[in-house]
Amino acid sequence: MKISKSIFATLVLALSFGQSWADGKLKLQKVTQDVYAIVGELGNRTKENLANNATFGFVVTTEGVVLIDSGGTYQGARNIEILIKRVTDKPVVTVINTGGQDHRWLGNGYFKKQGAQIIASEKSVIDQNSRAQDQFFVLGNLIGNEIISDTNAVYADKTFAEHFSFEMGETIFEIYHSGQAHTPGDSYVWLPQKEVMFTGDIVYVERMLGVGAQSNSKSWIRVFETMAAYKPQYLVPGHGEVTSLSQAKNDTYDYLVFLRNSVADFMENDGDISDIGSVNQSKYSYLLNYESISGGNAQQVFTEMEWE
Ligand SMILES: [Zn+2]
Repeated sequence: MKISKSIFATLVLALSFGQSWADGKLKLQKVTQDVYAIVGELGNRTKENLANNATFGFVVTTEGVVLIDSGGTYQGARNIEILIKRVTDKPVVTVINTGGQDHRWLGNGYFKKQGAQIIASEKSVIDQNSRAQDQFFVLGNLIGNEIISDTNAVYADKTFAEHFSFEMGETIFEIYHSGQAHTPGDSYVWLPQKEVMFTGDIVYVERMLGVGAQSNSKSWIRVFETMAAYKPQYLVPGHGEVTSLSQAKNDTYDYLVFLRNSVADFMENDGDISDIGSVNQSKYSYLLNYESISGGNAQQVFTEMEWE
C-alpha cells in the first residue's frame, strides 16, 4: 500500500501526540516529554463540559505537577485531575492562572484544598475579583447554580507584575504578563528547555477569538508579537489543539490585524455603529463560532477605536 506523504505526516503527528478522549469532554494530548495539553470543547460552557471550554496544560516534574489553568468550575477541576492521574501519581503542587477568564481560575479551590500554590499576574487577580460575580451569574445560567454550588472564588497566593520565574524539579518556568490581550492580566508561560509555550487566551486556533469589554485588541496584537518572539516549537493555545506558531498567527494575530483594519476603513467611510454588521469578515468564516461572535467583535473594536 502506498501512503501519500501528507497522510503519512498526519498519521505520525497523531501518534506522537498520543491523543485520547476522556469524560467531561476533555482530551489529553502529549506535547513533548513530561508536557501535556488538556483540550476542551470549542463551543460555550455546558453542563457536560462543566465550563472547561478551553485548553489547559500540565508539566510533570520530579517534585510534582505544575498545572496551567485550573478550569471553569470546582467539578471541572476534578475532571482535569482525572486526566493528570492517567499520566502520573504526583500531586498538583503549583497552579498558574494565565488570565481572568472563568476557565483560567474558577477551579483554583479544588487544587488549593490539596495544598497547591496558585500563581497569577497582579492584573489577573484584580480582573478576577472585579468580574467574579458576573462570571458566577453567567455560569449559573449556562450550567446551573446547583452544579457550581461548590465553586468559590479562590485567588492566587503568589502574584507578580510583569515577570515571574521558578524552577520545579529542574524544569524552568517563565511567566510573562506583557500587556492586556483577551483579558487585562493575560500571561504566557514559557518552558525554555523544552521550547513549549502555553499562551492562555492570547491564542485561539480553530475557533474565532472573542473581543470583549475586558479585552484590548490593539494591545493584544503587541502581546502576541512579544510571545511569538520566543519562536516556540510547541504551542499550547488557550483554545484549540496543540499547534504551531504559524497556525496561531493565522487564526489569532492575522484575524486581529484584519479586524482592526476593516473597522478602521469602516470608520473612515463614516460608517455608523448601527451598521457595523456590514463589515465583511467572511474570510474568517472557517473559524468555529464565526456566526455568533464576529459581529460583536467588530462592534467592540469600533468602541475601542473611538477612544484611541
Ligand atoms: Zn478563553
